Amino acid sequence: MFKKFLTTILLVAMLISLTTPVFCAPIEKSTSYVDYDKIMDNPDYLRKEILKDFSVSDGTLESFSAFSIWLKKQGVDAEAEGINLIFIDDDLFNLTPEAWIFAATPETKKIIEEKINSAENLDMSPAIDSKDSDKKLYSKEEMQSYLKNFDEKYPTKYINTGLVTYITVENKELLMKDFSEEDELILQQILWIVISPNKEDIKVSNWPSSSPSNIHKDMTAWACDRANDLSRPGINASNASSYISANASWPDYAPPLLDIPFIGPLTDAYEHNYKHYYCPATGFGGAISATEGNLSFNSIINPLTTEQKFNKLGNATHYVADLSTPLHTKYAVTQTIEFKFNDSAPHFTYESYVGDNWYNTSSPNSKNFSKFAKDVRSGYSVVNVERSLENLSMYSYSYADTIWSASLNANTLKNNSSAYYATAFCIDEGQRYLIGVINYGNARI
Ligand SMILES: [Zn+2]
Repeated sequence: MFKKFLTTILLVAMLISLTTPVFCAPIEKSTSYVDYDKIMDNPDYLRKEILKDFSVSDGTLESFSAFSIWLKKQGVDAEAEGINLIFIDDDLFNLTPEAWIFAATPETKKIIEEKINSAENLDMSPAIDSKDSDKKLYSKEEMQSYLKNFDEKYPTKYINTGLVTYITVENKELLMKDFSEEDELILQQILWIVISPNKEDIKVSNWPSSSPSNIHKDMTAWACDRANDLSRPGINASNASSYISANASWPDYAPPLLDIPFIGPLTDAYEHNYKHYYCPATGFGGAISATEGNLSFNSIINPLTTEQKFNKLGNATHYVADLSTPLHTKYAVTQTIEFKFNDSAPHFTYESYVGDNWYNTSSPNSKNFSKFAKDVRSGYSVVNVERSLENLSMYSYSYADTIWSASLNANTLKNNSSAYYATAFCIDEGQRYLIGVINYGNARI
């Protein structure tokens, strides 16, 4: 009882500290927690009566409530738009990062089956080399029959509530007990087939009209416009904003710490990618500590100029924007350890989709995602960077299954309203944290 009381107090304190807008703008989030309160008042109802043994965090449920209220504010009729998010049981995701292969919608299962069928002469060695080179390589037929048997033994279970279809499996306890290294190995090889880019997928002509680099710069520059006064003696606010946004995409191009002749850089793609991810469910990824590192400006050994401090604040904003991206908070292990570089096909497909639809271009179908960043007028008050970014990560994490599965196919992604609104919501949230982090850093420069 006391523990529950304490948890409630902590949660309320967290919400208040994380959601207070910086300016005197209407307090948007305090009213939007009405549905969240309902969930918190009736945890038994949601957890036991509908979701039963489904594992989902309060943060995810809170995020879905906030999303539904946000949609109403945007004047979106969720039913008419056909919005249906999907979310995979956290227990399964923690059992294996490849849970999305079997805990999937029928559409995703079909895509996986087709990709296995059409895979040709694929070099499977990278899928196993980091583990053990004498491990078995599975044939297409073995993969297909593995998935078929899996479905028979652990049928996929769908639980629909509100805007979300929660996905888990029957006999979950048994699966948790019996899941073996063999299972992991074959799933990793299926993963390799499903998310390996086709040669046509990645080529220069396919680069989106707005690159991730432009998007980072735009979001940071707009956040600077909404932040507290950035000016300093000899530096006006607009110059300060330029110093910050100039570095917003720098971490994507950051050179290794040390490049030793004949030996090579003391970092690698894995180390580089690791810093741009953070998964709140597993704690995997270095994006929060990279943000914090860039927000410490004082050094006795190497004192920084004001301009350099603004540059570092710009570096910090990069990781904050990354954390607002669902594919940087879930599927982190898949994309860094197992896939080893982050141009996995779904990641590339999704970045291209957001980039091509960033501005309201001449295309009548452009989604104009940039407006969801530009329209945000006030940020959250960031007092504790780690806690705020945990919160942001938990929000974006909750949309990753929807976006990942939609991004398995570039053509269906274009018309997927769930992925569209989930993306817009995460951009809106991310922008509020960007403003908050800029205010936090600015107060320390
Ligand atoms: Zn990044």
